Amino acid sequence: MSRKKSPEKAAPVRHRPSIARTAGEFGKVYRLVCTCGRIGRDWYAPGPAQQELEQHVATLPLIPEAQQCADPKRHDRRVWEPCAVCERQEPLFDLALEGSES
Ligand SMILES: [Zn+2]
Ligand SMILES: [Zn+2]
Repeated sequence: MSRKKSPEKAAPVRHRPSIARTAGEFGKVYRLVCTCGRIGRDWYAPGPAQQELEQHVATLPLIPEAQQCADPKRHDRRVWEPCAVCERQEPLFDLALEGSES
């Protein structure tokens, strides 16, 4: 009897990186902040912060093609997030063929 012990699955970490703009000592500072807790350095230009963001996104594991979202805007998904809505869409039987006798 070997039941697989499944450790309690923690909710997957969400990554929603964005650039936070705050007032720094010498003007506006830009900083990468991600919902996973990642915080980047302070920059005085948005460029490097954006670069950090892209680097962070690049480290995220890719998801299998089958789980990728077909409509990221509507489903509020990012390219690194599997989409449960689209994943469930299994190819339907071709209803057009069935009962097409009129
Ligand atoms: Zn993150
Ligand atoms: Zn989707």
